[in-house]
Amino acid sequence: MSQKVDLVLHGVQIALTVNKKSEILRNVSILIKDKKIVDIISSKQIDSFEFEKLIDCSHHLVMPGLINTHTHTPMTLLRGIAEDVDLQGFLEKVWAEEARIMNEKGTYIGAKLGALEALLGGTTCTLDMYLHPHMVHKGAVEVGLRHAIGPVFFDFEGPDGLNWEKRIEYLRNWQNVINEIGGAKIPLVAQPHSTYTVSPENLAQVAKISQEIGAIFNTHISENQKENDDVFSKYQKSPTKVLSDINALDNAVFAHAVKLNDEDREIIYKKEVSLCHCPGSNLKLASGAFEWKKAKDKGINVSLGTDGCSSSNDLDMFNVMRQAANLAKLINEDPAAVSVSEVVRAATINGAKTLGLEDLIGSIEVGKEADLIVLDLDQPHLVPSGDPHALIVYAAGRSDVVHVLVAGDPVIVDRVPTKVDKDFILTEARNHIRQ
Ligand SMILES: [Zn+2]
Repeated sequence: MSQKVDLVLHGVQIALTVNKKSEILRNVSILIKDKKIVDIISSKQIDSFEFEKLIDCSHHLVMPGLINTHTHTPMTLLRGIAEDVDLQGFLEKVWAEEARIMNEKGTYIGAKLGALEALLGGTTCTLDMYLHPHMVHKGAVEVGLRHAIGPVFFDFEGPDGLNWEKRIEYLRNWQNVINEIGGAKIPLVAQPHSTYTVSPENLAQVAKISQEIGAIFNTHISENQKENDDVFSKYQKSPTKVLSDINALDNAVFAHAVKLNDEDREIIYKKEVSLCHCPGSNLKLASGAFEWKKAKDKGINVSLGTDGCSSSNDLDMFNVMRQAANLAKLINEDPAAVSVSEVVRAATINGAKTLGLEDLIGSIEVGKEADLIVLDLDQPHLVPSGDPHALIVYAAGRSDVVHVLVAGDPVIVDRVPTKVDKDFILTEARNHIRQ
């Protein structure tokens, strides 16, 4: 009797597996059942299987969905409001506009817009950070994104009006909130904003609870020199050392990490902290250049992120891959500073590792959930395909993505979202910013 599966990506011209050897497969069919990849076969063997649905991929490249490990999805609504200013000037403008439109409704609308932009551009999973995280999560999950987020912490009352005790309560109850919303599997996350907005005592409290409940401790670190100088003048140490001295590095993720010293990198390596490189945001705010090669050579896990649309203007992870690759080559004056397969790994399996999901997503391997994207290769800029990793990093773009699966569910088919109405989301977003 033939085996029955839910979905087949059939006749895949090129599959970037991003398995341990970064193998490239050709003319294969990927079989999906109950969310998971159950087999990868030669396309000729398809007759031995029954299937509910088949997607022809004979002119296509299939790869793991991109994983954006640092963004502020609802900030899509703040696109273009703070241009040609540095980080501090940017924060002033952004915080004023947030007070005006980013209430619960605004974050929900912005999250849907951001999740739709992400998915249409081949990003299947996001580590997000924003106020009113329950509304952000609800919006993103409704669109179909695998979406990790958690309560945010500042010492002061943020625009959400929550005091410290309420924030702590929010974190302790977070598992219930995400269970109720549903969606693809994600880790718990606690999100103290930074060492310049949260005191060491409060950071230590969040770290302790995170360890108790098994949450990721996700924060901004050393984004530019001024941040380091401010933190140093307060505590006479670097942001990384502030966290290290209060034992806040278990299961930690640092966004940006542009201005690290060798001691910081040593601490980060020993504590297995993941770093999220956001080249677009760092370039545009002139924050500096993350030293990817140094981090990589040290053995630190490095994944990629867009940051919010207020600083980097879009959620395009293809663009981020290219920026990150070129930036590493430029600052090292070495074209071999990062290889094309390392760049693809940073945008996929390394992101999964950042989220503690490396056994679940991030590569095309039997047993993993099918978070996969399908790109149309019949485009002048993708012919000839040459080295497929280079094709993805240096030639392909998000508009080449035609189908997107999250946990085996086709959430984008032929560039159209299947769970939400695109026009409705666009209208809702335009109306909200006018209020
Ligand atoms: Zn950020």
